[in-house]
Amino acid sequence: MQGSGRYSRQTSSDHAAKSLKNVLGLERKLEFTDRAVMGGFDRFINHLSAQLGWIRDVEPLKGTTYAALSPGQRHRWASAIIGRLGSAHSGQQITKQPKSKSTSSARSQPSPTKAKYRLNTPLSNLNFIHKATRSKLARIEITNLRDLLRLFPNRHVDYSKVTKIQDAIYGEMATVVGRVIRSEVAKIGPPPGAAKIVIDDGSELLEATFFRQRYLAHTIKQGSLITLSGEIGSFNNRLQMQNPEHEQLYASNSRNSPDNESQLTHAGILLPVYPSTDGLAQRSLRSATRKSLDIGLPLLDEFLTQALKNRHSFPDLNEAYESIHYPKSLDDQLHARRRLAFDELFMYQLAALKKRWEWRDQEGGILIDRENGQLVVDSFLSSLEFHLTIDQKESLNALLEDMSSGAPMGRLLQGEVGSGKTVVALCALLAVTSAGYQGTFMAPTEVLAEQHFLSISNQLNAESLSNEPRDTVRQAILPSSDNQRINIVLLTGSLQRSVKSRIQQMIADGEADLIIGTHALLQDQVIIPRLGLAVVDEQHRFGVEQRGALTRQKPRPHLLGMSATPIPRTLSLTIYGDLDITTLKILPEGRQPITTTLATNQVAKNHAYELVRQQVARGKQAFVVCPLIEPSDSIESASALEELKHLQQSEFKDIRVGLLHGRMKLAEKQDVMERVRNKQVDVLVATPVIEVGMDIPNATVMMIMSANRFGLAQLHQLRGRVGRGEDESYCVLMANSKSDLANERIEAMVKYSDGFILAEEDLRIRGPGDFMGTRQSGWDELKIATIDDVDLLQIARKEAADLMADGTLDTLNANPKLASELTRVTSEHIAEFS
Ligand code: ADP
Ligand code: MG
Repeated sequence: MQGSGRYSRQTSSDHAAKSLKNVLGLERKLEFTDRAVMGGFDRFINHLSAQLGWIRDVEPLKGTTYAALSPGQRHRWASAIIGRLGSAHSGQQITKQPKSKSTSSARSQPSPTKAKYRLNTPLSNLNFIHKATRSKLARIEITNLRDLLRLFPNRHVDYSKVTKIQDAIYGEMATVVGRVIRSEVAKIGPPPGAAKIVIDDGSELLEATFFRQRYLAHTIKQGSLITLSGEIGSFNNRLQMQNPEHEQLYASNSRNSPDNESQLTHAGILLPVYPSTDGLAQRSLRSATRKSLDIGLPLLDEFLTQALKNRHSFPDLNEAYESIHYPKSLDDQLHARRRLAFDELFMYQLAALKKRWEWRDQEGGILIDRENGQLVVDSFLSSLEFHLTIDQKESLNALLEDMSSGAPMGRLLQGEVGSGKTVVALCALLAVTSAGYQGTFMAPTEVLAEQHFLSISNQLNAESLSNEPRDTVRQAILPSSDNQRINIVLLTGSLQRSVKSRIQQMIADGEADLIIGTHALLQDQVIIPRLGLAVVDEQHRFGVEQRGALTRQKPRPHLLGMSATPIPRTLSLTIYGDLDITTLKILPEGRQPITTTLATNQVAKNHAYELVRQQVARGKQAFVVCPLIEPSDSIESASALEELKHLQQSEFKDIRVGLLHGRMKLAEKQDVMERVRNKQVDVLVATPVIEVGMDIPNATVMMIMSANRFGLAQLHQLRGRVGRGEDESYCVLMANSKSDLANERIEAMVKYSDGFILAEEDLRIRGPGDFMGTRQSGWDELKIATIDDVDLLQIARKEAADLMADGTLDTLNANPKLASELTRVTSEHIAEFS
């Protein structure tokens, strides 16, 4: 009896659901104008209340009536209802569905096989988006439905501020919406002239003049609906705006399809403005995101617990997605943004912690005997001409400590250019070789690897072997040992094939103890059987996968990253969440500050050349860096070959000038470097191959041609090539760019010498997006969170740490939705941690 009663209630609520879907489908076609039901939608809702009473409690209808909602709100409500009723969203689909689907269990858990779309449904299958739009979206790297949900608007146009033209007040800012009644080119103002349009909003006319933008007369068509924001002025007795912000709501030539007409209403009062894209109109983007939200929101799986959301007042996941696109209020939008930014940072922290636990968990890291290692290191250090700074000593201690702990080390040694990171790394490598392991030292460029090979060989008093290639194999006696010999080898991509395979053989046989090279070390055919420590110099220059590649084997070798590109503290927490960080703050004693000047005119340039001549006369050396090797037709910039000729023929006629660039052969490059080191070359003209690591303490002048062509980090690195000895050093930036950004960079260089301050400046000038580019962070998912989200970052760190407080993954795994979201984000976006 009871059972059959339930059954009949069930069928009638199925019936009600079906008719609700049908009516909503019709209402959607009618643009949510409350015309789908005779007597109004509210009556219909009343009628359904026995079976589907809960629909009244769905936002934004809750506590109000359908009639009182704006069309945009009605749309939101309808989407939410459709979402709850099941995956289908249009009337036609309902009727096609077999009866068996309409059971309550099928409703609450739509069967994945029957759901037409999933979040990873490829763009090409998203038939609800116009085909032409799809191919354009593909160009901005939209690949699936999820990407469309994550195509976030740049800003919103606020229509709550719309003023009737007749109410506009002179001298005040206003937003007006009207139809274009005239649009023409006007030969006024500076060339190429202006566009002048007149709009009518039913109350009065307003004229807008767009100086210098005459092309707008062709894009803003008569009859189209447009919104203008700007200061109200007057001209010839008519209300006017000059160069207002404008937004075409729909163009006149497109037929008044509901899609176009209804955009304003779809959006409620805040209309999203998406990143502009070639050939993709805002209206197509809006239509695409609107439909994607309608279909995608019900598919999103909330992965934060209610308790966590409550703690920080975060909205639900689908609410956040809806409101970041189509917010009810600006407050709503901020709320949504906060939630989504948190998600990004939280995932990153979780991934980092997880990686760290896994890393720690790996038993049997490579064990380096602390005492024996120290002995070798001390004996090596006593052979040097200088003493380590306190920072160097402390970081070296930390490294030796880590490597003798039994767990694999993951450490980043950060330090200003010239702070002496190499010698610290070399000490660690010697400790590792003394324990019988191999060590690698990987550098981002061949020139740098070659230089490290030579200078490390020198510091260890290594000699070449008669039966091995001279340029790439050296042998030294390990300090303090009883004649234990170690082989030092160089492996780069441009070595002769036969030499290369010999070196690879030595590495594979365990004959090579200290292996210095470029990413050639990462090639598959290079097997390093007893790798104990991998040092990655200038690690920010490597892709994230490259960075980790050497430490994939088991037992897991220790990893030491080094970087002189200082990462602002806030970011380094995020970017290197999985590494311990040591910083060398002090420079070796006796370093002089570098005087940086800017030379834009001929007089200043002549001064710079004179400075070089004076320094050379005192036995010092100089670098002249050019962006290009050869002159280019298309890029206006100094080239090394041209500059060399010019300097040899005029400015530095009586000076020995050398040349170094990446296309020279290894032997040629080594030869030049050798001559520079032996002071047989006074001025070295080079391309930025010398940017990192180049170490010539006798050089005192760095002249950078076409300095506007370089980024701030690069300029700072180049400048760091001088000031390495005890003499006063100079950096001259040659530039004549009018580009504002370039000028900002150059000004920052003149003003600041501290790398950390420059990094902050760089961040300010370029924005965090650039700074946290894939290369730097390994994470291209950081679309919302920015450097300013320090509070959110702290919350994310704390929540992540609490979740893993017991040092296991149990708590995380107890929350399967979160764990699976983490797996997805990690595998798709955080290569570093996967
Ligand atoms: P970076 O940190 O930029 O890689 P390097 O390791 O190339 O710097 O060191 C720059 C120069 O400083 C090298 O010539 C190195 O030999 C020297 N150096 C390193 N440590 C000291 C020290 N404690 N005292 C004096 N010179 C040092
Ligand atoms: Mg270095």
